[in-house]
Amino acid sequence: MKKLTQKIITMGADFSTKKALKTTLNFLGIKPENIDKLYIELKNSFYRDVFKRISPKDKILFLPQCLRKQNCKAVLTKKGFVCNGCKNKNTCKIYKIINKAEKLGYKTFIVPGGSMVMNIIEELKPKAVAGIACLKELVLAAESLTNIPIQGIELTKDGCVNTDVNLKQVLNIL
Ligand code: SF4
Repeated sequence: MKKLTQKIITMGADFSTKKALKTTLNFLGIKPENIDKLYIELKNSFYRDVFKRISPKDKILFLPQCLRKQNCKAVLTKKGFVCNGCKNKNTCKIYKIINKAEKLGYKTFIVPGGSMVMNIIEELKPKAVAGIACLKELVLAAESLTNIPIQGIELTKDGCVNTDVNLKQVLNIL
């Protein structure tokens, strides 16, 4: 898939939306195994360098609430769940990610859904956004955020509860 993403980027093809990407792939006569995955990989590759150059204080990291532990003590507010570093913190990936991201200067939010993500972006107007989510949610967000550098990190196990993410992959992107 890496070769294909490079080819599409080098051609200067339009992949601002999934529909535009489909048109490009039809033109090239390519049927990818998973167009959603390809779409997110394209966005990630395209924005990787510019994302890295933007100061963390101008970036937001969104985490999905489904990544919380079952007995999580985070409190739900208008801007998502607020982690209070409960007794699970030593094994909690949310805690580890937030800790690292905030030390770097990121603003972080544990959100229950895409509409809250858009409201927060509209209010805080970050220069770039990273998000952890299932592939479906990443595609929806990438299609809405066509004017801002993004990095999407797909959950390694999705669902409504007890999801998982590759911690190393997240920390590398930050
Ligand atoms: S450390 Fe934070 S996010 Fe993790 S389970 Fe505890 S309150 Fe929830």
